Amino acid sequence: MWNKLKVSQDYKTLKDMKPTKCKVFCLDCSRSKMLFDTEKKAQTFIKFNGDEIKSQTGYCPTRTYYCVSCCGFHVTSKTDSSVIVSKTDIVLEKYREYKVVHDEKNRVNKEKQRLRKLEKKKLMM
Ligand SMILES: [Zn+2]
Repeated sequence: MWNKLKVSQDYKTLKDMKPTKCKVFCLDCSRSKMLFDTEKKAQTFIKFNGDEIKSQTGYCPTRTYYCVSCCGFHVTSKTDSSVIVSKTDIVLEKYREYKVVHDEKNRVNKEKQRLRKLEKKKLMM
C-alpha cells in the first residue's frame, strides 16, 4: 500500500516537472537548449509555453527544427532559417569539400606515378 502511494507521488512530481528539465547542452549551438524527441512535442511545447516564455524572456519560440547534433528537435524564435544552419552540417560540408580535393590530389598523384613508370619503361627499352 505504501509502495503504491510512493509511486503515485513520484508520478505527480514527474508530471509537475518544469519543461526546463529536458534541457540539454547542445554542442551544435554551444548553449543549453530544450530538446524534444518529436517535432510534434516541440510544437506542442511552443503552443502551451510560448506566451509564458515571451513574458519571461521577451522573445517567443516560433518554430521547430531538427538538430543533428542532439538527434532531436529544438525550438527557436529565429525566423530566418539561414541563421540556424547547423554547425555540424557546416563541418560535414567542409569535410566533404576537403575530401573531394584530397581524392582528386590522390588521383592526380597516382596518374603521375603511373606516367613516370611508363617513362622509365620506355627508357629501358
Ligand atoms: Zn542540438
